[in-house]
Amino acid sequence: MALIEDAKKGKKDEFVKKCAEEEGLEVEKLLRLIAKGQVVIPRNVLREIKPKAIGFLCSTKVNANVGTSEEYINVEEEIEKAIIAQKYGADAVMDLSTGGDLREIRKKIMKVVKVPFGTVPIYEAARDCKRIGDISEDDFFRVVEEHAKDGVDFMTIHAGVNWTSLETLKKSKRILGVVSRGGAITIGWMLQNEKENPYYKNFDYLLDILKEYDVTISLGDAFRPGCIHDAGDRAKYMEFIVLGELVEKCREKGVQCIVEGPGHVPLDLIEPSVKAMKSVTNNAPLYLLGPLVTDIAAGYDHIAGAIGAAIAGMAGADFICYITPSEHLGLPTVEDVKEGVIAAKIAAHAVDLIKEGQKERARALDYEMSIARKKLDWDRQFKLSPDEERARKIWERRKARGDYCSMCGNLCAIKLVESFFK
Ligand code: SF4
Repeated sequence: MALIEDAKKGKKDEFVKKCAEEEGLEVEKLLRLIAKGQVVIPRNVLREIKPKAIGFLCSTKVNANVGTSEEYINVEEEIEKAIIAQKYGADAVMDLSTGGDLREIRKKIMKVVKVPFGTVPIYEAARDCKRIGDISEDDFFRVVEEHAKDGVDFMTIHAGVNWTSLETLKKSKRILGVVSRGGAITIGWMLQNEKENPYYKNFDYLLDILKEYDVTISLGDAFRPGCIHDAGDRAKYMEFIVLGELVEKCREKGVQCIVEGPGHVPLDLIEPSVKAMKSVTNNAPLYLLGPLVTDIAAGYDHIAGAIGAAIAGMAGADFICYITPSEHLGLPTVEDVKEGVIAAKIAAHAVDLIKEGQKERARALDYEMSIARKKLDWDRQFKLSPDEERARKIWERRKARGDYCSMCGNLCAIKLVESFFK
């Protein structure tokens, strides 16, 4: 039976108990939140994974995207990226491959992913067709079923694009139009065929497929703004409203759902945008790409994304999709994946320091770090850092002669103050 239905009956599955323990929540409380659709635990019935609870009162989660492109196909490297992402704390991994044998690649990456594993099935349907408009309506659903059978735990599906939202987009004065790959494919198909989006039109059928495997749907953000100029326009809000209606259908049907959000958003629009999404979706778990708070950080977009993620998390976002330093420039390397995950994890932890239900546990870590700093206990400080090796390397690079560091040397404020108070 689907988790959301089990939760309504109060059934305490083992993996729910594990999540409750990990989140420091009572099982009954977690079940009530799952039943209401305010928390999801993405998990395909065919897969055994380390489950993760995403949503209200849960710690802020981070997703890392990996995957090939037509330009660069190196499956071993993508596997390594998935491993590194988990090593540095990714709570979910998505395979966004578009180059090579997609099913084979998916299966290989999935094997090393022990946390929830996500995909965007429409990429596969589009990749197999010469012209986007040639994708058959059946193929939209065939790929979803195939991914579900392979054990995918959550899928991004751009069901919120319909003729109404598309008309609003056509009237917008955007610079970058649509920057979501799945969104562009869906819109291209609709325009070339002059037909409604099959995922929107046959949403109940889509939910039937997902429910059979208890796959979580991540309602894609097709109209996410691709630059600061395009943020907060009517097209985006129109899509939010459609997504809100689809969330209701998911809940009625017993399919867990997450809602995706923008994109590139200036600082002052992040909070209203998150609050609007939470309001129209009746507090569905919110999954954001960044958001990036400026367009000019090429090479450092993981920092622009982490700033946005921290503010979005403070306003209520639950799940952060990492951004790597390669964003807007190329397919990330293994090192980029590590940098991206760490940046997003720092943002997520900063959010947890003030998040209801999480702040006491999160603050205990900061407390421990501050005690280690006071004691000049370097080993403990390295262990508590996001990247122990890097922290140790920096400390050793210019090693001081005393037990302090080379920043202030024997004028170490911590040491001086300690001696004064003695
Ligand atoms: S030397 Fe300066 S930076 Fe280093 S531990 Fe002491 S106070 Fe901190």
